[in-house]
Amino acid sequence: SEEPPFKKKKLSSQHSHSHASQNGFVNTHKLQQERRKLPIFPAKHKLTQQIRSLDTAIVIGETGSGKTTQIPQFLHEAGVHRGSIIAVTQPRRVAAITVSQRVAQESGTLLGHLVGYSVRFEDVTSESTKIKYMTDGMLLRESTLDPLMKRYSIIVLDEAHERTIHTDVLFGVVKKAQRDRKKKGLKPLKIIVMSATMDVDHFSNYFNKAPVLYLEGRQYPVQVYYSTTSQSDYVMAAVVTLFQLHRDQPPNQDVLIFMTGQEEIESTVRCIRDISKDMVGEGPPLVVCPLYAALPSHLQLKVFNKTPQGSRKVIVATNIAETSVTIHGIKFVIDTGVVKAKLYNPNSGLDLLKVVRISKAQALQRTGRAGRESSGTCYRIYTEEEFDSFKKNTVPEILRCNLSSVVLQLLALGISDIVNFDFMDKPSMESLIGAVHQLHSLGAVTKEDCIKLTPLGKQMVSFPLDPRLSKTVLIAKDNHCLEEILSIVSMLSVDSVMFTPQSKREEALETRKKFISSDGDHVTYLNIYRAYKSVRGNKEWCHENFINLRNMKLALEVRKQLRGICVKLELPIESCGQDTSVLRKCLAFGFFMNAAELQKEGEFISLSSRKPVSIHPSSSLFMCKPAYVIYNELIQTTKCYMRDLSVVDPDWLYEAAPHYFRKKKPKPG
Ligand code: ADP
Ligand code: MG
Repeated sequence: SEEPPFKKKKLSSQHSHSHASQNGFVNTHKLQQERRKLPIFPAKHKLTQQIRSLDTAIVIGETGSGKTTQIPQFLHEAGVHRGSIIAVTQPRRVAAITVSQRVAQESGTLLGHLVGYSVRFEDVTSESTKIKYMTDGMLLRESTLDPLMKRYSIIVLDEAHERTIHTDVLFGVVKKAQRDRKKKGLKPLKIIVMSATMDVDHFSNYFNKAPVLYLEGRQYPVQVYYSTTSQSDYVMAAVVTLFQLHRDQPPNQDVLIFMTGQEEIESTVRCIRDISKDMVGEGPPLVVCPLYAALPSHLQLKVFNKTPQGSRKVIVATNIAETSVTIHGIKFVIDTGVVKAKLYNPNSGLDLLKVVRISKAQALQRTGRAGRESSGTCYRIYTEEEFDSFKKNTVPEILRCNLSSVVLQLLALGISDIVNFDFMDKPSMESLIGAVHQLHSLGAVTKEDCIKLTPLGKQMVSFPLDPRLSKTVLIAKDNHCLEEILSIVSMLSVDSVMFTPQSKREEALETRKKFISSDGDHVTYLNIYRAYKSVRGNKEWCHENFINLRNMKLALEVRKQLRGICVKLELPIESCGQDTSVLRKCLAFGFFMNAAELQKEGEFISLSSRKPVSIHPSSSLFMCKPAYVIYNELIQTTKCYMRDLSVVDPDWLYEAAPHYFRKKKPKPG
């Protein structure tokens, strides 16, 4: 099959290979039969007619009923889009990619033609794309360039119950675009909000009492079992539960385990594979699949493969499997009751990644995954009393995250009265003010009569990056080291390029020692990047050095795009050669609010919150005691860990933001 005519350059060869096999014109007949069996199918005609007649509709239906894959196709087939593009937003890039692949298959077209997707750093659409799956973040970025969203006749805000920060802001932005288009006599914009069964009235009220269309779902009963005692090691408890049921239950009844993140999932998957090797003969063969956002897409697609007859599939997933993707054949769910969430720390104005308890609504969704095709069982790795203490609903992200990136985007949209923006749930004054302060200390906004973007702030909007990273890039221009900073920022924008298998841990760490810089992780990343470039992306080299080839390729692609933006902004891309101090200085100018100081006792405290913090064991500075460091991320597990650090000079911090440090100037020495 031929290559689709991509508007923008595609990511890597991995995609072009997979297109042919995944989206070739195979088995279309079988796919059409499957479509017809979905709960949404009998409602096709009525639903299409209702949506055609409405400006705004709220569609509610259980996960797996066919909302995401079918409704855009129905509207396209019936011409409701009037020739323009239908945008369908997804909170997660994994969902945007897998769903668009599926819909391309169903419609018998190659991905990137009629059906395409657009996620950060990756655009697989063309002139002929009419159904465009995209992350909510991408649509929000597009709206800063075109607030009326003129390319689209229909915008579907999918997975609305997830209430990501971008979806929440989009609610207001899309509502305004619809109103403004009407006022200007332009073609109308149809808004469809799709959600699993949660918070229906809240959505309808916000969208001017838009009618709610209910889809009939199929939900079979699910038997729920609680732990009898509280479990401190939920990973181990989940694995034990899995093997208990595995021994007793017949094959081809698959298991879905909910965990919190990549590292935990990978180690659980390894653990399950190791145990099952010793259990040959006890229970059917196990096919174990991880599923998390950062997983390469061809591995993500593996979870959708049919389980071989006589074996059992076990999927270990993040909350992505709660509602975003539907997997066939799940009979058992093991719910650890936890999720990794971003939490805002009002003291420091920064986000913290932390494993927290899920809400009751989430627990219900997870349970439901076991009853899609027949009755099922859900094992909850927590007691009934613990469940009773869970919050009823998940708190929307916008109420618990740093808002600087959002405020920057609203300002770019020309919305300066941020406090009165039409939020579905208004963030606290405190966090809005915190965001404005942070942007002010980065030099992105002025605060005279009204809050306005500075020329620097306007340039920051051009980059699909956290404002602190955009600032780092822009300050690098003045310090003549964009060449290197672009490499570092690209490496920070992908998942870890270091590959450390549990069984060869020592060997991997030893082999990678040659890249380590005493300046910290950023220069270490730069060393890896340079070494990779010097061998021209050699696959063997990656393997020998325990470097993740795929993430490296992705970093290169990210770099190319960031470089393109710099060229457009006419920023000279110069190199600082071997002088790494200037690189750390640029990082200090972006991340001065993420600085920590070594105390007499040998512990670090964060300068912004005065709370104790530690160096993450994965850092190249783990065994070192520099006086001052900046870091990119805080992660709370047993301790509060800083990740991705560089050694900095305290004078740089003060120079970067004299206002910010006025009261707490770091004392050199
Ligand atoms: P909803 O949005 O209502 O949760 P979806 O439209 O996502 O439902 O899914 C409908 C059905 O399509 C699922 O039950 C599943 O059978 C199928 N499906 C969706 N995505 C994929 C995929 N990537 N591979 C195979 N089947 C899929
Ligand atoms: Mg869906």
